[in-house]
Amino acid sequence: MVKKRAKVVGKKKPVVKNVVKKVATKRAAPKKAAPAKQYVYAFAAGKAEGDRTMKDILGGKGAGLAEMTNAGLPVPPGFTISTAACNLWYDEGRRLPQAIEDEMMAHVRKLERVAGSTFGSTTNPLLVSVRSGAKFSMPGMMDTILNLGLNDAAVEGLKARTSNGRFAFDSYRRFIQMYGNVVLEIPKEKFEHEFEAVKLANGAKFDTDLGEAQLREVVTRYMAVVKRETRHPFPQDPLVQLKGARDAVFRSWNNERAITYRRIYEIPDHIGTAVNVQKMVFGNSGDRSATGVGFTRNPATGAKEFFGEFLVNAQGEDVVSGVRTPRPITELADVMPKAYKQLRDFTSRLERHYKDIQDFEFTIEDEKLFMLQTRSGKRTGYAAVCIATDFVQEKLLKPAEALLLVEPASLSQLLSPVFDPAEWKKLPVAAKGLPASPGAASGQVVFSAEQAVAWTELGKKVLLVRKETVPDDIHGMEVAQGVLTATGGMTSHAAVVGRQMGRPSVVGAGALEIDEKARVFSVGGKTIKEGDYVSFDGLSGEVKLGKVATKPSEILQVLAGEMKPEDSDIFRRFSMLLGWADKVRTLGIRANADQPDQSELAYAFGARGIGLCRTEHMFFGEGRIEKVQRMILANNEQDRRTALAELLPLQRADFYGVFKAMHGEPVTIRTIDPPLHEFLPRREDLMVEIAKLEATGGNADELAAKRTLLQRVEQLHEFNPMLGHRGVRLGITYPEITEMQARAIFEAACQLAKEGLKVTPEVMIPLVGMVKELRDQKAIVDRVAAEVMKEQHVKITYLVGTMIEVPRGALTADEIAVEAQFFSFGTNDLTQMTFGFSRDDIGKFLGSYLERKIMERDPFTSIDTVGVGQLVAMAVEKGRKARPGIKLGICGEHGGDPSSIHFFHKVGLNYVSASPYRVPVARLAAAHAALAVKVGD
Ligand code: PEP
Ligand code: MG
Repeated sequence: MVKKRAKVVGKKKPVVKNVVKKVATKRAAPKKAAPAKQYVYAFAAGKAEGDRTMKDILGGKGAGLAEMTNAGLPVPPGFTISTAACNLWYDEGRRLPQAIEDEMMAHVRKLERVAGSTFGSTTNPLLVSVRSGAKFSMPGMMDTILNLGLNDAAVEGLKARTSNGRFAFDSYRRFIQMYGNVVLEIPKEKFEHEFEAVKLANGAKFDTDLGEAQLREVVTRYMAVVKRETRHPFPQDPLVQLKGARDAVFRSWNNERAITYRRIYEIPDHIGTAVNVQKMVFGNSGDRSATGVGFTRNPATGAKEFFGEFLVNAQGEDVVSGVRTPRPITELADVMPKAYKQLRDFTSRLERHYKDIQDFEFTIEDEKLFMLQTRSGKRTGYAAVCIATDFVQEKLLKPAEALLLVEPASLSQLLSPVFDPAEWKKLPVAAKGLPASPGAASGQVVFSAEQAVAWTELGKKVLLVRKETVPDDIHGMEVAQGVLTATGGMTSHAAVVGRQMGRPSVVGAGALEIDEKARVFSVGGKTIKEGDYVSFDGLSGEVKLGKVATKPSEILQVLAGEMKPEDSDIFRRFSMLLGWADKVRTLGIRANADQPDQSELAYAFGARGIGLCRTEHMFFGEGRIEKVQRMILANNEQDRRTALAELLPLQRADFYGVFKAMHGEPVTIRTIDPPLHEFLPRREDLMVEIAKLEATGGNADELAAKRTLLQRVEQLHEFNPMLGHRGVRLGITYPEITEMQARAIFEAACQLAKEGLKVTPEVMIPLVGMVKELRDQKAIVDRVAAEVMKEQHVKITYLVGTMIEVPRGALTADEIAVEAQFFSFGTNDLTQMTFGFSRDDIGKFLGSYLERKIMERDPFTSIDTVGVGQLVAMAVEKGRKARPGIKLGICGEHGGDPSSIHFFHKVGLNYVSASPYRVPVARLAAAHAALAVKVGD
């Protein structure tokens, strides 16, 4: 529904009408031969061949440029080479068919006409930027080339046109360096080395200290670098340059960092990138020029404030690379008031048009404003919730539409811990940076992404500290507790990516003197080495030396009754948003919880029922494991019953608590599932203990007990325990266990019923693959239920059902449904058994599978819709046919995964069950799923 909204910015005709007209014309002339497929789309002089709906073809940047052009905003002219061309380029062995080369040439000529300048001209040369732009923005991950078109002749033309030789040669040396690095793959240092040499020879401290003559010298040296490294002179033909740059952008789709980024954000590998070729405007042509980036609202906090940064006399890359710390955008009002006013006007119109916070790029050339990009802004989970609720209040969006502005997974950021204020106050502030992404971060300092990954694998919590982060750091940012940089602004790469990941980030903390090679930084006379603890607050930008304890987020404090709801703005917004989600969703939301306190939390988070109570987890509680071991060690049924009798009151008390926490909502309790050896000590450990006792002549009774235990452990040893004596198989061999558990469930339920409270038990038998297994166990449960109800003089309504987690269970779901009153899909085991991948060992090979693209993602995280999903869909159909009205849910880990939730919605389950902390995510994802199905996704 949101997709259909369409209003226009600016004075031009509505964009949507243009599209409708195009379609209508096509329909009116059916006899014409179908036009050849278009691969290049122009945007120039108030008219574009594309629009915002064409992100698949034009990429996000291309679609935004087209939309802004159509809306009459000042956009430098250009054209977009489509994502389809990128895919074709790969398919054809890294070249484009001649027809597309010709199509691009025609667009170059057209651009020359519109721009009134020609490639290579010595009076007025056309210069272009060549930028990547995929459907989903991937900030900094792919390549960009600026000032393309410059050559030995054109640089003189640029000098003539601008009467600024310094500027012309500075642009030329930047171009050779960028092109040399990105297209010709010459290491950056080779150029930097020459640049530094010229600076040194001329006693220059800054780049700006070099004049035209010295920059000419730099250009000459750069030319020599290119010749030396490639054995060819620097290409002088702008068309050769253009093809080289375009191909380099295509190539950058598959560079390592782009691949990592796509993996993290689950962006498909096959969609490719578009390439935008656009006439250059110069933010670096003097003090009346500037460049900047910004957001229509604060993307870290969601506050309604104009937000961004700019640099006078600079090119766009200078702002986002984090090399120079730029100025806050509000200061532009003093420097260039007219352009600032226009910028505010355009960007607020863009926000109203797109009905979403916009992330924009602009350049001011001689005080004239140009818009270079608009797209929906990446934001933290915190900001997303604030912006969505504000948009509804501002009547820009309806509640159901606003839900789509919040990524479900980002809600978990709102639940992450904050510093305990009392602890935080104890340490002095060591430095202050820009609060780029909120959240409390405390960890051991590391200075490289690789180190961050290595230490995290060792179980350490790390803070990634960098002078500035570069896109290559993405894998380190992914695992770190937080990211801290010495340079860069709120729109630098570290800030943008940190926010998107929900990773607390402080950037531009200039007081830090970082020596990455020596792995130390100093601040205020103190030296911090790798491994030392540092903490920072991503909301205030304060950095402190040392470790600081955290406490639960504001939302959790409210839920725990430690804070009043009215004192927490974010709690109010969070609840409001989830309230809207509840109105839209049709999937029920339950929680996986085994303890009363977990169940209370889950209920507070909005779960209405327990989808899986793993009873065996209760066996691990204090003082219980010995009782469980006595039960396992028993040699005969009588001894086993005696041990079970000791466990009965403990389980009953737990069930009582869980039932009570759920206020009458259904509670699915599963009978014992894991192989019994999991409750016993490890064989190797026992052998060592016995050897020690023997060697030291230790206590004889203890030694005998250990020997008995070892014997039993050896008896219980299995080669494939996950396919062994577990689940329903335990209940069948030891029916007294099922009996005890059923008794505990119904005694607890009767007790509550007597207290006047509602209870809805659902007893679930795990690992059923044959209907007769279920029939066997169901008979026990029904018998015990009847006995207990008779004893207690209470009637309880309950269900007995099964997990569907063995492929045979799914295949014979129609037979099983005759006995089962509900199914709950155990997608963890179902995935394990469908793929034949051990859920505990997949880590050993998953990386290779993902790398080689044998699989797109971990099937234990996100449901494999093609294989495992097929079994789920089949079981749903068979189950419903055999027992119309059968209750169907899912309780595997996938129940909290947004994309899996979409699938479960589509196949028509009644509910999903997620771990308590993922309940809010599941509520919102279920609403998204319902909305997506409505608009026909
Ligand atoms: C499952 O297999 O999906 C499930 C929920 O059970 P467990 O994870 O306890 O095996
Ligand atoms: Mg299971």
